[in-house]
Amino acid sequence: MNRPSTDELINLIEQEIPKERVLRNLADRYSYSYDASFGEYLPDLVVQALTKEEVSFIIKLANEHRIPVYPRGSATSLSGGSLAVNGGIMLDMSQFEKKLMIDQENLLAIASASVITSEIHEAAENVGLFYPPDPSSSHVSTIGGNILENSSGPKGLKYGTTKEYVIGLEVVTPTGEIIRTGGKTVKNVTGYDLTRLIVGSEGTLGVVTEAIIRLIPKPEDRKTLLASFDSLINSGKAITNILASGILPSAMELMDNACIVAVENYIPSGLPIEAEAIIIIEVDGHKSAIQEEIDKCAEVCERFNATSVKVAKNELEREQIWKSRRMVSPAITQIGPTKISEDATVPRSKIPEMMEKLSEIREKYKLNLVVFGHAGDGNLHPNILTDKRNIEEMKRVEEAVSEIFEAAIELGGTLSGEHGIGTLKAPYMSLELGEDGLMMMQKIKEAWDPNNILNPGKIFPQEGQTKVVLI
Ligand SMILES: Cc1cc2nc3c(=O)[nH]c(=O)nc-3n(C[C@H](O)[C@H](O)[C@H](O)COP(=O)(O)OP(=O)(O)OC[C@H]3O[C@@H](n4cnc5c(N)ncnc54)[C@H](O)[C@@H]3O)c2cc1C
Repeated sequence: MNRPSTDELINLIEQEIPKERVLRNLADRYSYSYDASFGEYLPDLVVQALTKEEVSFIIKLANEHRIPVYPRGSATSLSGGSLAVNGGIMLDMSQFEKKLMIDQENLLAIASASVITSEIHEAAENVGLFYPPDPSSSHVSTIGGNILENSSGPKGLKYGTTKEYVIGLEVVTPTGEIIRTGGKTVKNVTGYDLTRLIVGSEGTLGVVTEAIIRLIPKPEDRKTLLASFDSLINSGKAITNILASGILPSAMELMDNACIVAVENYIPSGLPIEAEAIIIIEVDGHKSAIQEEIDKCAEVCERFNATSVKVAKNELEREQIWKSRRMVSPAITQIGPTKISEDATVPRSKIPEMMEKLSEIREKYKLNLVVFGHAGDGNLHPNILTDKRNIEEMKRVEEAVSEIFEAAIELGGTLSGEHGIGTLKAPYMSLELGEDGLMMMQKIKEAWDPNNILNPGKIFPQEGQTKVVLI
């Protein structure tokens, strides 16, 4: 089938969507050519959809003419999720009409895809409720993007990921039908669970326009602790022993020495720059229970030779601790202009082994490899800071990235704990799933999207692709 020219396509689109929301000039297309990951791909045009009918119209048109469509929220994806790798239409969902309703009686939020995640946090908390998934990007990223990436953050340890909270969706399918999955009830066993299939599908199975989200009562109080260690291994042991002691913290975060130093160089926060690692532990729940729990956490840290243990006395001190954690991402970008951010995840008992493996990779390839992450659930973020103009170093980065994935899988872990597969991890999918497991996923994609128009080039490896290629 002959694809219409971009001008012909624009004419067709403008029959339904006003000109000012169909962007075709080079500057606009460049603004939509990247996300928070690596690589730049220019879409042929950008459409800012405001309603589900407009989304359906675009998808039907694209399906008829076999044009790739790339749904995009706030483009904070760290795995290349929305990049227009085959050109075509960038479908900007960030301008979609905003709707956010809290249904207090049923403990639900109903949100359109463009709502920023922190707006849901705020609206829920205003009525004594709680939406736990908390990616560090929550003040920027859309709930649509969070749903499609199955995002989470520090609170994943106790409260799980986005998929645990999404119970219903409104979706435009890759052939343009508007469907609803799930509903408003927490229990729903009618047929296949399409809601769960779509959550985490990275924009390859449908465009989400609205979601029904389960909320829970807001915990009464929380306590936060920061512990420093001379030995990374001991910090890992403290983490596993706290979990084995019967306490389930709401967060357990780890930062290695390179991250600590980077944060102190960026915005001094009083972190111990000589420490090999620090961990942040937060417990939440009933006032009297959390006091006992945080004391026990402090005791375990001391038993594993923490050099200092500090429990925040008030909200200000708590906020200072978390601010230093939030500063890690921006701070480490000072080390090198190109940041390759991974989220290889291992069973939590394997954290010390994974840390050792990462340290071997750092030495072997002589790279600026720093590690932080959600240690409580094994979700580590090894980050390589480099410069993409340095071709020789980028070659070493490619090898190091492959070894990181292989190490995670060998230890019984996964390629991604929260950032998704996108373009960057697609070559490694069969490593984790096996050829047959991958084939079952490909069959689902083919059944939903027979013309492969929705976010093509993501999740599945291209023919013969076995390793990430960064240059
Ligand atoms: C500084 C920083 C910190 C981060 N911290 C975390 C973290 O702690 N935890 C975490 O999980 N992630 C984190 N991320 C990654 C990122 O923020 C999440 O993946 C987020 O969910 C992406 O949301 P977005 O709106 O930016 O979506 P985008 O990046 O625009 O898109 C993400 C994916 O979803 C698809 N998509 C978006 N909207 C729709 C829709 N309505 N319908 C269909 N498909 C859609 C896109 O095609 C793409 O595949 C971080 C990113 C940055 C830059």
